[in-house]
Amino acid sequence: MSTIILRGNIIHTPTRERFVCIPGGYLVTVDNEIRGVYEELPEAYRSLPVLDYGDQLIIPGLCDMHVHAPQFVYRGLGLDLQLMDWLDRYAFPTEARFADPAYARIYYEAFADAMAKNGTTRAVVFGTLHAEATEILMEELEKKRIAAYVGKINMDTLSPDYLCETPKQSLADTERWILKTKEAYRLVKPAITPRFIPTCSSEVLEGLGRLRETYDLPVHSHLSEDLGEMQIVRERYPEYDNDSDVYDRFGLFTDHTVMAHFIYPTEHELDLVARRGVTIAHCPQSNGNVAAGIPPIRRMLDKGIKVGLGSDVAGGYSLCMLRAMSEAVYLSKLQWLKSEKQDAALSIPEAFYLGTKGGGQFFGKVGSFEPGYELDALVIDDGSLGVAADHLTLEERIERVMHLADDRNLTARYVAGERA
Ligand SMILES: [Zn+2]
Repeated sequence: MSTIILRGNIIHTPTRERFVCIPGGYLVTVDNEIRGVYEELPEAYRSLPVLDYGDQLIIPGLCDMHVHAPQFVYRGLGLDLQLMDWLDRYAFPTEARFADPAYARIYYEAFADAMAKNGTTRAVVFGTLHAEATEILMEELEKKRIAAYVGKINMDTLSPDYLCETPKQSLADTERWILKTKEAYRLVKPAITPRFIPTCSSEVLEGLGRLRETYDLPVHSHLSEDLGEMQIVRERYPEYDNDSDVYDRFGLFTDHTVMAHFIYPTEHELDLVARRGVTIAHCPQSNGNVAAGIPPIRRMLDKGIKVGLGSDVAGGYSLCMLRAMSEAVYLSKLQWLKSEKQDAALSIPEAFYLGTKGGGQFFGKVGSFEPGYELDALVIDDGSLGVAADHLTLEERIERVMHLADDRNLTARYVAGERA
């Protein structure tokens, strides 16, 4: 039996309404199952060693619900372009280079290392269409102890000639890759990952729906991100007036599906997404960078839709999920204005919840310190952030961490019950 006892200023959000803070508390985990958070260490554990982090903050691990690993290569570039231009100029040419496994090894190792340093414990990740490179990505994430769902992506139409599969090859490669990787790693598993509807023929979407069902896999893709993209979908599927019905028709909308963005939902789509239990990955930095729009997160939450946060590197330039929390609040204030003050902005605890438990639910009992949850935790030293910590409440300290901290403030990372 493996028992881990962490001591420090413990902060989490079992509900999105408020922080629960335990100053100088004890977080006890036995065999990757949290037993509880205590002000005083219970008698039963008193003979065991305690990892004492003093005045540092202990928070749940951060979940990046939408990130493109190959785009890590050119993060921070071309961010004044619109989506389709940016894909042509940066995304597609770079992704083509991942046909070379040696190239993939170098950049995927760097990507996994940067994810770990930024405190990400769970992630849902796009690879490229290359099965071999995607396996390398999975290996590198496992090595750095990032628990992840990873996708070999599918694109067989409306893609550059140099980055396009035939439908038959796309589905055959995907099935071979699933069989090879589904039991190959402890923390990393495959996910069905159509790039988005415009780059997938109906034959491929139908085949992916079949593979999803056969192997009981999660699904990861993009939903209603850009008006240009949505217009292509309308023209290809004139019987539907939205993206969601198309995914649903092919069996890709389940309670283990995560869709990035959802910026322009119709009322019908909000209901469908809620009913199917689809998770939305909100990527605020990317939405602003590619001028895609502002998603109505408050309306999604009011509908009971599950929402997590994503970096969407390289539409977003930062892998740091604390930044995503901060920017989710920022963007929600613009939405408040845009909605003529109807959609209330996100509170600080709500943004923290989205970046931890909101995304974590996609992986099971993850993202909170409630009994029965897995131990994903970060230890953060906020001593360098300016004002003496003893002037601030723990709620104020975690708020400042969300806005100002980065990888330099991370002291320790625990993933699935082990120090990573
Ligand atoms: Zn994306």
